[in-house]
Amino acid sequence: MDHFHYRDRDLYCEDLPAAELADRFGTPLYVYSASAFVDRLAELHSAFAALDPLVCYSVKANSNLGLLKLMAGHGSGFDVVSGGELYRVRKAGGAPSKTVFAGVGKTDEEIREALRAGVMLFNVESEAELEAIDAVARAEGVKAPIALRVNPDVDPKTHRYISTGKKESKFGMDVDRALLAAESVLGMRGLAMTGLHMHIGSQITSTEPYAHASARAAELVDRLRGMGHEITWCNMGGGFGIDYRGGESRPIAEFAEVMVPVLRETGCRLAMEPGRSIAGNAGVLLSRVIFTKQSGDKRFVIQDAAMNDLIRPALYEGFHRIWPVRVPEGSPSWPDDFEAPIPGTEPRDVVGPVCESGDFLAKDRALPPTARGDLLAVFSAGAYGMVMASNYNTRPRAAEVLVQGSEATLVRRRETYDDLLGPELDVPS
Ligand SMILES: *Cc1c(COP(=O)(O)O)cnc(C)c1O
Repeated sequence: MDHFHYRDRDLYCEDLPAAELADRFGTPLYVYSASAFVDRLAELHSAFAALDPLVCYSVKANSNLGLLKLMAGHGSGFDVVSGGELYRVRKAGGAPSKTVFAGVGKTDEEIREALRAGVMLFNVESEAELEAIDAVARAEGVKAPIALRVNPDVDPKTHRYISTGKKESKFGMDVDRALLAAESVLGMRGLAMTGLHMHIGSQITSTEPYAHASARAAELVDRLRGMGHEITWCNMGGGFGIDYRGGESRPIAEFAEVMVPVLRETGCRLAMEPGRSIAGNAGVLLSRVIFTKQSGDKRFVIQDAAMNDLIRPALYEGFHRIWPVRVPEGSPSWPDDFEAPIPGTEPRDVVGPVCESGDFLAKDRALPPTARGDLLAVFSAGAYGMVMASNYNTRPRAAEVLVQGSEATLVRRRETYDDLLGPELDVPS
């Protein structure tokens, strides 16, 4: 909440009133704080400084070109999971040599593009993928730098949809398979194994899974080196949790505290792939109330941001704090606990205009009285927000604005109806 804060009763992003942004750019509107991105990157660099870290910002959390440019300008590397994301990174001026490429289903075409671009590491998720990368690399006359993605079999105790490091996950390989695969890599001329990769899940709010994963990583680096692989990178993925409700996350320094001493023993450089922990609390979604309505005992606030703009509540029961952009007298300007009774509020369902019962941003949420035209802020919307937006119900996607100090830059204009119909009209008739 440092970069988004209330002055008196008005929400600000850095030095700009949110209401002014909504008036100028319309709603629904994603608003990002540049300082929040940059400060978080610096915090990661300093917490893990002993491991000469390379932060590879996870592009899938928020892939806006303006943000990628900002991050590249501050020395960030990138974690991509598709050819499209790699294309974005390059358009934004990001360095492929600081970019790692993950994903369970890389196509030959994507592998070729990434090889030609010169990515730093392929994070390899299966034996079949090893063979595919080897074949493409040999055809290109190069050696592909790879890391095996290993499942340390830890339960990160997060939502089941975002847990990835367990044995039965579709991602990566278990330790025994990885060791066998590492043997076979020795005979593949198109591959050079220079790293080890783990990514155990997302929104992880305790340090224990990282302590466990780091210990497994250190053991494995030893064994891989014993086979003759020159391992120089330990890539521990992303997954650090953030505060959605308030108070549930751990400071980055606490994760570093359990990881650094173990990983330092390996002599590897640390690569990491944080997405949510950089972008999540660096963005809010602003919406405007269209109608209020009562059905039986239930009160609804129908506002112009819908599940197509932010699907986390519908998809994985994601909780987002929601509070008025201008707080009325009689309500606290920023409640400590959004789930406890709050003076001057009543429970309301915050819903959008999409024709689905799953179209809600919050249910039974304590909110001050709102009226048609009022603005609401949906917090912690910087990660897995706009990137998952769709055009369902033929709704143009929201605009995105990047704020730095008292300057606001439009980094994605609002879509028009013609943008939506373009690909359907652009066909032989
Ligand atoms: C999604 C993903 C990340 C980022 O996860 P966060 O929880 O947003 O930090 C990092 N690495 C890989 C391989 C991913 O798939």
